[in-house]
Amino acid sequence: MNAATLPAEHNTFHRTERQAAVVRALQAVVPAHALLWQAEDTVPYECDGLTAYRERPLVVVLPETEAQVAAVLKACHALDVPVVARGAGTGLSGGAMPHAMGVTLSLAKFNRILKIDARSRTAVVQAGVRNLAISEAAAPQGLYYAPDPSSQIACTIGGNVAENSGGVHCLKYGLTLHNVLAVRGFTVEGEPVTFGGEALDAPGLDLLPLVVGSEGMLAVTMEVTVKLVPKPMLARCIMASFDDMRKAGDAVASVIAAGIIPAGLEMMDKPMTAAVEDFVHAGYDLSAEAILLCESDGTPEEVEEEIGRMSDVLRGCGATAIAVSRDEAERLRFWSGRKNAFPASGRISPDYMCMDSTIPRKRLADILLAIAEMEKKYGLRCANVFHAGDGNLHPLILFDANDPDQLHRCELFGADILETSVAMGGTVTGEHGVGVEKLNSMCVQFSAEENAQMFGVKAAFDTKGLLNPGKVIPTLQRCAEYGRMLVRAGALAHPELPRF
Ligand SMILES: Cc1cc2nc3c(=O)[nH]c(=O)nc-3n(C[C@H](O)[C@H](O)[C@H](O)COP(=O)(O)OP(=O)(O)OC[C@H]3O[C@@H](n4cnc5c(N)ncnc54)[C@H](O)[C@@H]3O)c2cc1C
Repeated sequence: MNAATLPAEHNTFHRTERQAAVVRALQAVVPAHALLWQAEDTVPYECDGLTAYRERPLVVVLPETEAQVAAVLKACHALDVPVVARGAGTGLSGGAMPHAMGVTLSLAKFNRILKIDARSRTAVVQAGVRNLAISEAAAPQGLYYAPDPSSQIACTIGGNVAENSGGVHCLKYGLTLHNVLAVRGFTVEGEPVTFGGEALDAPGLDLLPLVVGSEGMLAVTMEVTVKLVPKPMLARCIMASFDDMRKAGDAVASVIAAGIIPAGLEMMDKPMTAAVEDFVHAGYDLSAEAILLCESDGTPEEVEEEIGRMSDVLRGCGATAIAVSRDEAERLRFWSGRKNAFPASGRISPDYMCMDSTIPRKRLADILLAIAEMEKKYGLRCANVFHAGDGNLHPLILFDANDPDQLHRCELFGADILETSVAMGGTVTGEHGVGVEKLNSMCVQFSAEENAQMFGVKAAFDTKGLLNPGKVIPTLQRCAEYGRMLVRAGALAHPELPRF
């Protein structure tokens, strides 16, 4: 049974009656203060960073011990109640959006760093530990945790594992998956489960890459063993201006083609630069059509050599101005705008929807030009910031969620960006996950068979479909309905699917 399509008695069950039954069951396994179910208490859990979509959970539970988590899961499983794990709620695709008839399981109380082992360069941390807290704890040993989502001050390692989160430094140091050795947690039935281990290669089938990026659909993470890397002796950043988007896009591809893997390679377009400059006053070139930030780290000699090579490539690609950070304060100033791109967008629009597709690096300029056309088509503005080195786009569509027409146009605009990305050889998600936001776009990316295989994996871990149901994998019916809307040049997106 898939909980997204719970049997009739669940859908029609009176909410308060159901709520009372769940509260009674959970009161038996967690202290009273760990349970929230009054409307005023559950409102803060209605959504994640994708604020346009909201749902009130039946109950929020904040357990304090692993035994309580296991007991909550067992109780919910026995009652066929959906469970949505929640970290800091900073996700941008609705992954932690509650289920209307389900329990939101907050891991907020699991915020302890259990071990920093400088000799093995690893740390063992609980799921609710903030990303940045790991680096802060490892700093005295000269180590840090490399994946650095811009939300790292708030987001949790449990959420990072679920989303396989990335960040500025992931081009050189890898995504969450490449920086995690083991994930320990519970199955939906409340049974202990471990993925990976201390060795680089786990015995048997390697299921670690399966659970990393599984968006809370396969298991509940309780503890993560992460790799730590030495803090580089020096880091410097180039800020390069371009008067033409295509030249900037080509420069990104040329840096990588020159055999350089920068510690960060990010791009902002003109509207985004204007928004962030007004917010952080980083000294960005407001006349530039695009700004590139290229970081080098390592020993002073390595950095000097790499900065020189990157500057040559950027100049050769037509950079109109190049500035290199002279000290750490200036480097942080260069990055301050990029790191604050999302809050800066929040200052110029009531709402924004952040898309997260990928494309081959050489198509960066093409997609930007296509997005500029879409702005006219949908009558909405869009500011662009990219993990350009990864080919990972973050177009931020600016709109007002209180206006249903604007929300509708924003959804169409977003879907268009994702589908255009797929048509250019990319993917519908880079690092923010599918959640509820990109369910329709999954119909464009994957065939019916591929989506069915993903359901098969889900069912192998969660036969009743109770962990974060209705997210990530679209049903056949959904794809068929979406396909009917997607008649392109007389052809349906998925002609193989049944029509109703
Ligand atoms: C301003 C801003 C900037 C951002 N920048 C980046 C960025 O640079 N790179 C990037 O990748 N993302 C970025 N994000 C997105 C977001 O921060 C990440 O996806 C992050 O990993 C979410 O962590 P969280 O703790 O907030 O998880 P939540 O939002 O609470 O949950 C996210 C998903 O993980 C699941 N989950 C959470 N904890 C657990 C657990 N213990 N066990 C099982 N499943 C769990 C949830 O069910 C949900 O599906 C940004 C978000 C914001 C608001």
